[in-house]
Amino acid sequence: MRKIAATYIFPCNQTPIKNGILICETDGTVVEIIDNKGELKEEAGLEFYSGILIPGFVNTHCHLELSHLKGKIEEKTGIGGFLGKINTLRNKEPDNIEKIIHTADRKMWAAGIAAVGDISNSVLTIGTKQKSKIYYHTFVESFGFHPSRAEKAFDYAQFIYSEFQANKLCASIVPHSPYSVSESLFNKIKENALVEKNILSIHNQESKGEAQFYKDGTGPIANHLQHNLGIDISHWKPTGRSSLNSILNYLPSENQLLLVHNTYTQKADLDELRKNRSLENTFFILCPNSNLYIENQLPPVSLFQNEKLNICIGTDSLASNHQLSILLEIITLQQNFPNIELKNLLKWATLNGAKALGIEQNFGSLESGKKPGINLISGVDFKTMKLTENSKIKRLA
Ligand SMILES: [Zn+2]
Repeated sequence: MRKIAATYIFPCNQTPIKNGILICETDGTVVEIIDNKGELKEEAGLEFYSGILIPGFVNTHCHLELSHLKGKIEEKTGIGGFLGKINTLRNKEPDNIEKIIHTADRKMWAAGIAAVGDISNSVLTIGTKQKSKIYYHTFVESFGFHPSRAEKAFDYAQFIYSEFQANKLCASIVPHSPYSVSESLFNKIKENALVEKNILSIHNQESKGEAQFYKDGTGPIANHLQHNLGIDISHWKPTGRSSLNSILNYLPSENQLLLVHNTYTQKADLDELRKNRSLENTFFILCPNSNLYIENQLPPVSLFQNEKLNICIGTDSLASNHQLSILLEIITLQQNFPNIELKNLLKWATLNGAKALGIEQNFGSLESGKKPGINLISGVDFKTMKLTENSKIKRLA
């Protein structure tokens, strides 16, 4: 048994506790939290830390297999420049790519991340995920803009999925984005999702270009499809509506859904979404550092808060981020949206993420019986209850 006390405990499923004591098994399973009503109590065998105790982070959006692209893509070029670069670089895999993936996994663990929703287009991450101390849900991502590709693209995704399954790793087949999946491929993914009761995830409204492509069929996405990928897009009929509204039909309301980025999502999109599905099983993933890296734009977080959405946090990949750290995503959000309370940011980064990945039985909060990982955040300004540039994570369990 360990008794760990800190200036504050943020269990993330209940209000923060000042000078509380967390009792856990040596393997990190939470036994109980003792609320001393703010009084610090000396006890034998008590570990005391200055800082905040929180559960392990849940990173709801990552692409481990792109870890070798760290520092390879110029910042703030917009989605057109980014997609073009990814396309030319992603297949030039270095010989030591699996080692690079393994290192990224280790660094996430050290950064206090306990569970990850990870996008995969290949089997490259299987070895790392099998050995990792992190829980992974792999989103096997399928894409193919031309309808003639649907069959092949889906078969390939099924092959990748079966490899994850054979290695006893949790996975589901998901669409990449509204602009990279044909109607026929969307339908295959939807049918499969209904049968398998899959958790779905899709990149949503990440760029201005996505809106333009749905509005009039032009812009950087159209250019990318035609000129980088050499696809004939003559079959494409812009819907004149937002990309999200145009694809709701393919995202069954009974399936849990993670909408990733939401940089250009507006109130009208949310109103329409509500007509089609419950927001209870819909999760909005924010990847602020990646958004700043690619488009230099952030999502309307205050709108999302007012609309009481389930907000979660992701790092995206090292192709569009300097590190895979949920703490640094929180700091970016705090800098840009100073009105968001720390307890909310921490809940988004833990419990909401665990719910999004369907693992809240064991992750996301410091609750009796869970083994969620235990982190200490130091360098907190307790007067303002805000993180600072000196805030750091230390993993205690
Ligand atoms: Zn992504």
